[in-house]
Amino acid sequence: MLFADIKPETRGTRHRAGAPGDNQHTEKKGMASTTTNTIFMTKKCHNCLTSMPVAARRCPECKKKVGDVDKLGFAKKPVQWVAYITTLVWFQAFCFFVWWAFLKT
Ligand SMILES: [Zn+2]
Repeated sequence: MLFADIKPETRGTRHRAGAPGDNQHTEKKGMASTTTNTIFMTKKCHNCLTSMPVAARRCPECKKKVGDVDKLGFAKKPVQWVAYITTLVWFQAFCFFVWWAFLKT
């Protein structure tokens, strides 16, 4: 997903001057497409707003896991797969219970 955001911009700027600030005038979409993770040197924790290096995987202040930097310079929340899978399993168990208790003939 990130690479899809970056590719059109790099394709548009490489054959021109190539300066990082130059694409603000050449991009059609304006500010939204000029800010990618290639520009940011730091990112902010989604939990405590502490600045940290872009490469950091974990917040130095609150020790929470952080993802890549987004367009606004904030670290994305990593997907909590354990929570999703646990919810799915228990929802299926609940559906089975409803079928077993009320719908089974
Ligand atoms: Zn934090």
